[in-house]
Amino acid sequence: MLPIFDAHCDALQRSLDLGHDLAQETHGHLDLAKGARGGLRAAVLTAWVDGTYADETGASKRRTNALLDAADDLLAAAPDRIVRVTDGEGLETARLAGPDGPVACVLAIEGGHAIEDDLDQLDHYAARGVRAMTLTWNNHLSWARSCREGAGAGVPEGLSELGRDVVKRMGELGMLVDLSHAGERTFYDALECSAAPPMVSHSGCRALSDHPRNITDDQLRALKEAGGVLGIPFATAFLDAGERDAERAFRKTPAYGEVTGKDATERLLLQGDAIQSGLPPFPIEHVVNHVLHALELMGPDHVAIGSDFDGIDRRPEGLEDASGYQTLIQALSGRGVDDLTLEKIAYRNAQRALTAAMTVTSQH
Ligand SMILES: [Zn+2]
Repeated sequence: MLPIFDAHCDALQRSLDLGHDLAQETHGHLDLAKGARGGLRAAVLTAWVDGTYADETGASKRRTNALLDAADDLLAAAPDRIVRVTDGEGLETARLAGPDGPVACVLAIEGGHAIEDDLDQLDHYAARGVRAMTLTWNNHLSWARSCREGAGAGVPEGLSELGRDVVKRMGELGMLVDLSHAGERTFYDALECSAAPPMVSHSGCRALSDHPRNITDDQLRALKEAGGVLGIPFATAFLDAGERDAERAFRKTPAYGEVTGKDATERLLLQGDAIQSGLPPFPIEHVVNHVLHALELMGPDHVAIGSDFDGIDRRPEGLEDASGYQTLIQALSGRGVDDLTLEKIAYRNAQRALTAAMTVTSQH
């Protein structure tokens, strides 16, 4: 079983909102019990801050800190199962430790509105152990444009001066710049001013599926040039246009639309159950195709896994939860990917990107 590094998952919100103990088997996509069966040795656990929290009242900061509190609780309760990692050594220890050692947890933030336009807030998060951040989620910021349409007049084409300062400060703090969700100009601006190679933690290939969350071949080449890494997501809507249409239709049915839950987190989880049973299995070959395309353009050193578990509803067949990572490895092997490349995709490429970012080289 190859050690797995999952570069993006949203399980923390189940911990905070639903009280799920991620050290145990839970109703959800990623926990340590499922991860152990799938070979999970390291995971970027993300404090995903929904764009609805972006207001003037400090809600984004409160939500981010609450999610980080949930991570602290998990880490304190199960120190033999999961450890916070803030440097490259921790990632190498976890890789070598084997299935009985603790999983390495890299804390991250998804959505730059979490800093509420305040650079000092980055220092606060770094002090809490955060080592990666997506510049945007799907909402636009006054300092960075997301990949979605509908940017108003106050949104820059790419990064504003403050946006560039955010990227630079992240470099000084040893935080990986994650460009999933970033607009195209934002992506190129960030490549220009990021100290360490960035990651695009959970995006597919636009050439295979024209979705704004995927990146173009030119972006893939630029990412390779910068030494960066692309995490292929399991978000089915990004991976195949035909399946996306089927999902759109299913979401309009009562079986999906009338699913309720005590909050958005529970609703997403239950809608995921509904869509998994309501639609035919999503072929894992679509995931494989995105990996192969990225390999073709970037070579073996720039492709990783960024599942987006617990942030998505539908999942591919065999990749329904964190117990299934090896199914993907086997499917890639079946399509001719060699063993060394598989090791890199499974763990080492994400490890290299995080290690480089967490190694602070500038003197401040
Ligand atoms: Zn995301």
